[in-house]
Amino acid sequence: MQSAPPVDKSAVIPASMRLMDEHDRVVRYLRLSVTDRCNLRCLYCRSTSKQPCIPHEKVLRYEECMRLVDIAVEEGIQKIRLTGGEPFVRKGFVDFLRMLRERHPGMDLRVTSNGTLLGEYIKTLRELKIGAINISLDSLRPEGFLAATGQDLFPVVRRNLDALLAEGIRVKINAVALNGINRQDMKAFLDFARDHPVDVRFIELMPMGSGAGWLQDQFWPADDILAEARKWAELEPCRPDAQDRGPARMFSIVGGQGRLGFITPMSHHFCATCNRLRITSDGRLRTCLFSDKEYRLRGILRHPRLDARFLSRVIELATRKKPLGADILRQRREAAVAARPMVAIGG
Ligand code: SAM
Repeated sequence: MQSAPPVDKSAVIPASMRLMDEHDRVVRYLRLSVTDRCNLRCLYCRSTSKQPCIPHEKVLRYEECMRLVDIAVEEGIQKIRLTGGEPFVRKGFVDFLRMLRERHPGMDLRVTSNGTLLGEYIKTLRELKIGAINISLDSLRPEGFLAATGQDLFPVVRRNLDALLAEGIRVKINAVALNGINRQDMKAFLDFARDHPVDVRFIELMPMGSGAGWLQDQFWPADDILAEARKWAELEPCRPDAQDRGPARMFSIVGGQGRLGFITPMSHHFCATCNRLRITSDGRLRTCLFSDKEYRLRGILRHPRLDARFLSRVIELATRKKPLGADILRQRREAAVAARPMVAIGG
């Protein structure tokens, strides 16, 4: 009997559906970390880990990042967030953004930053049509900022934040909820969101990295944060924007321009709608924040005889096995939800 000819899967599965997992989730969002270096020392991030920085030769070169982006787009990725570490500490980052935009003019391109180093690039960021810039900012007080990040840079971030808004760039502020530090910032955050068209999102603290656990007393669950917020503003649940079906539960502030949101990886899971992959700056693909399983793409990228088709196949197979993070959390024995701190994964 004659065997059937091999099926060329790329001919039968539309590109937009190739990254589908066993839970029928279609992955369309990639977070690509360009560095694990950062100029801040946030108490829940780098300082919980003794992990040294990734040596330079192991960090993906920009051409390698570009090859990965090309493949990801081919596979159906529609949204890419550049992150780190702090992406603006890496030399040539804005040139890389420009190259990305030239090569993928229709891409929903986003950046996550601590806001300390982007002051001179604000006009360029607008020209490059960055969809939104997420600024991590845990406090609107200099003392609170210093306590959270170890650096006395609040005035710089505040100035850059104002400049981003003045330039008409969409901004989201992400604050890690820290009971002892930013509970007292709630009114200021709500006032800021009332007066500006920004989303302020509180993220539940996750124990991450080798020193995890010691911050337990700072954990501030989302339901409590919401109760605190309701003391200062009238809030109405609202639907996420069509372009932003992210994990945040959003509330509009009655009479204000901005919104308040909650990202609750610990108390309310959003695995069912998770559509993202992460690639670390040393080229490891992670399909779930709570799974330490990593697929080593750097070796494939640098191998002289392995091509883009091979890489695509690895990414497709890894995606198919994308786990449900909530299951991993339930079974975990370690305090930490991930072995690497966020700075080394790319938040
Ligand atoms: N430097 C950039 C920035 O500041 O946004 C990008 C990287 S930073 C690691 C990304 C995000 O992860 C930040 O919003 C940070 O606050 C958050 N993050 C880091 N460690 C975390 C933790 N243990 N729990 C919750 N969020 C965390």
